[in-house]
Amino acid sequence: MKNKGLVSLIFALIIFASTMLIIDYDNTPLATIFAPSIPNQIYQPINPKTNEKIVCIVFDDGWKSSLSAIPILQSFGFTATYAIVTSYTSYPDYVNWKDIRNIANAGMDIASHSRSHIDLSNSSWDEMHEELAISQQILRSRGYPANVFVYPYGPSGNNETVQSQVAKYYLVARGTVEGKCDLSHCNRFNLEAYDVYHDVSMEDFTEFLEGTNGNNITILYYHKIDNGIEDTSVSKETFQVQMQHLFENGYTIKNLSQIFLNTVR
Ligand SMILES: [Zn+2]
Repeated sequence: MKNKGLVSLIFALIIFASTMLIIDYDNTPLATIFAPSIPNQIYQPINPKTNEKIVCIVFDDGWKSSLSAIPILQSFGFTATYAIVTSYTSYPDYVNWKDIRNIANAGMDIASHSRSHIDLSNSSWDEMHEELAISQQILRSRGYPANVFVYPYGPSGNNETVQSQVAKYYLVARGTVEGKCDLSHCNRFNLEAYDVYHDVSMEDFTEFLEGTNGNNITILYYHKIDNGIEDTSVSKETFQVQMQHLFENGYTIKNLSQIFLNTVR
């Protein structure tokens, strides 16, 4: 019986090793076991000065190419929100967990963009739970507060049933309805925004920004930053010019968490 301790140790090691090998859909075994502590956040929008012009930049889907926006953002001292689809993190065209860590370390905000990017207005209750709660748990297991949600597809955000489910888990959610966001009146579970797509000219861009003042903030969302010709692609050069415009015209750039949430102790 003197080997009992050794047998228990080996047994424990086998269990530990098998736990490590259970790599789930989102590739999160270690993170789930050694979960970092998450800051406690509440919904508390900022109170801008009347002459302040606040703009928020969001990247939807977590495309790998959106990483090339970071040096440009940093060169102006800007931040942005990256909305991650948690089950896409092992696909080559999308950011992986290491990229996401680098994004956060570069001063960017990490939001949930659901687990598998389905139209939530067309989902069962179980699917909705998976998309909202599980994606949040996965992000939290890696240390991101994940209190901000970005709807996959317009109809998800415009559906009141979906909004009420989102409200159970998140403090704020951005949709795709085009418009300004008035901090004192907006529907915080379907924030309005502007899609900066491939064909947006400088004239369109400045039009999106018109009326940005005090409580009226402008949220701009992008997808890919590359030379593609799809609607979702904006070139690095165009992005650079747009950021330069924001910088030269005195806009204050904040991410979604900075605008809507406050960290409490
Ligand atoms: Zn999307």
